[in-house]
Amino acid sequence: MNRVYIAIGSNLGDPIRKAQDAIAALKLLPNSRFVAASSLYTSKPMGPSDQPDYVNAVASIDTELEPLDLLDHTQRIELEFGRERKKERWGPRTLDLDILLYGDLQLDSERLTVPHYGMKVREFVLYPLAEIAPDLQLPDGTAVAELVAATDRNGLTIIA
Ligand code: ATP
Ligand code: MG
Ligand code: MG
Repeated sequence: MNRVYIAIGSNLGDPIRKAQDAIAALKLLPNSRFVAASSLYTSKPMGPSDQPDYVNAVASIDTELEPLDLLDHTQRIELEFGRERKKERWGPRTLDLDILLYGDLQLDSERLTVPHYGMKVREFVLYPLAEIAPDLQLPDGTAVAELVAATDRNGLTIIA
């Protein structure tokens, strides 16, 4: 089994409900066991600021799915939630599921990079991650708690 952490983000169409439903969808992944989900948080949008605030959470699962099979599933769930692929980077979306960590795997391939390239500096990833895995270390040995301590909350607030 591989312990995997997945970041959930939504800012369109009842995002609290979307985040809760996304957690429910992750609980149904095949060959996997759901471990934990963080609280829901609200955060300021990254990139274009003329879009609604985000709802974010992080979930952990243990899975036998191979990394790219897991990505297939998370992208399928994004589409089922009505996500449209747009050209604008970091624009509004009904659901974003980013694979933060896949065990201690370090992979940089065309479809998948783990650890996720932005996770060390994003408050809306680090705080919920530390909530469910306070003692976690990244594959390079960096402690999540250290990253949290170095990262401003930027208005990040628990909402549910
Ligand atoms: P960001 O990656 O900066 O958070 P984003 O989540 O909005 O931006 P997406 O449009 O969701 O970006 O994904 C773009 C591509 O990133 C996907 O097609 C996917 O193949 C690739 N990708 C690479 N690494 C990962 C990962 N760890 N988790 C999810 N997608 C990834
Ligand atoms: Mg993302
Ligand atoms: Mg994404």
